Amino acid sequence: LREPAEFQELRRNLHRLAEPSGREEQTAGLLVSLLRGFDPDELRTGLGGYGIAAVFAGPEEGPRVLIRAELDALPIPDPPALDHRSEDPDTAHKCGHDGHMAILAGLAGVLSKSRPAQGAAILLFQPAEETGQGAAAVLGDPDYGDLSPDMVFALHNLPGYPLGRVVVRSGPFASASVGLAVSLTGRSAHAAEPERGRSPALAVSQIIQAWSSVPQELVPLHVPSKVTVIHARVGGPAFGTTPGEGVVMATLRAHEDHVLHDLARHCAGLAEGIARAHGLEMSAGEVEPFPATVNDPSAVDHVRRAAGKAGLAVEEPDRPFGWSEDFGHFTARRPGALFGLGAGVDCPALHHPSYDFPDDLLVPGVRLLTELVREVVRSPVSPGSEGDAR
Ligand SMILES: [Zn+2]
Ligand SMILES: [Zn+2]
Repeated sequence: LREPAEFQELRRNLHRLAEPSGREEQTAGLLVSLLRGFDPDELRTGLGGYGIAAVFAGPEEGPRVLIRAELDALPIPDPPALDHRSEDPDTAHKCGHDGHMAILAGLAGVLSKSRPAQGAAILLFQPAEETGQGAAAVLGDPDYGDLSPDMVFALHNLPGYPLGRVVVRSGPFASASVGLAVSLTGRSAHAAEPERGRSPALAVSQIIQAWSSVPQELVPLHVPSKVTVIHARVGGPAFGTTPGEGVVMATLRAHEDHVLHDLARHCAGLAEGIARAHGLEMSAGEVEPFPATVNDPSAVDHVRRAAGKAGLAVEEPDRPFGWSEDFGHFTARRPGALFGLGAGVDCPALHHPSYDFPDDLLVPGVRLLTELVREVVRSPVSPGSEGDAR
């Protein structure tokens, strides 16, 4: 795995195999057989599901650097005309994880020929990123336990930025988010006699209004936050029935975990008060929680220097991105950084049906990760990097 054409073929093969979050069996199988050929010092499989870690160690002790790619695809179909279209008509790599995997496999190819000067590189292929469950599952897996990286990194391709532009910043990089769902239960009745039932219809409309005004009323001007109602329903389409149950769901977002936590608590409290006023039972649940991904300044320095060595320009945005990444679970435990790699200004947006990872990004990606490993393993291990320092 050296030539651009080989990277491209691997990326397209991974694209054809696209599998949903948590069901990445064939994708993992392909990677395991490929990685075996690179003769890593250690190869762990079945991490948090279908996760894989390949360890390439240097001759001496030193910093251990972990680099993560994601295994999963999305429930969005490929356009029929795409020649390397996904074999599953309902699932395709619309976030470019096929490209991230090919880049990390390319790094494995480089490390198989030249091991790190010291320390170790841990190449982690993580399942189920899109549902926000994979990172926590890998970190909670006993087989992951003693990999003990000193520093953690992940890249994500970024449409809208020039091809190969490295996008990174210290502090919050990607936002925290969570789905909040409330279910309301009253009592259904004949539509002619709503007074004999207890409909949640008005409560649902009041919750939508109350939640939508929370960022306006609760959060200070300088603190970014959003509450986006994504779904609401009362009863079913039966004209003869006064409904007895209803649902409201929203996605909550903030740059910082504590702001998100306050938002969620406040929204649940508002819904509870409204439900009580209407004499309804309420249950609330949080789904797909993503912590904020917070970049460590020294990890960001490594990314800047690696970009310079790889001949890639660096751009540092003023603000964190509004989307979420479950890599925040890693940066919550170890110093590290998530950084963007520009996918081209005209590249369709991530999760858009016409998106396809640009193959021209594979070679710069491998070059960047190769330099990043070199940078990190030769830096002194900072005191306090033992254990869960952060
Ligand atoms: Zn995605
Ligand atoms: Zn992604």
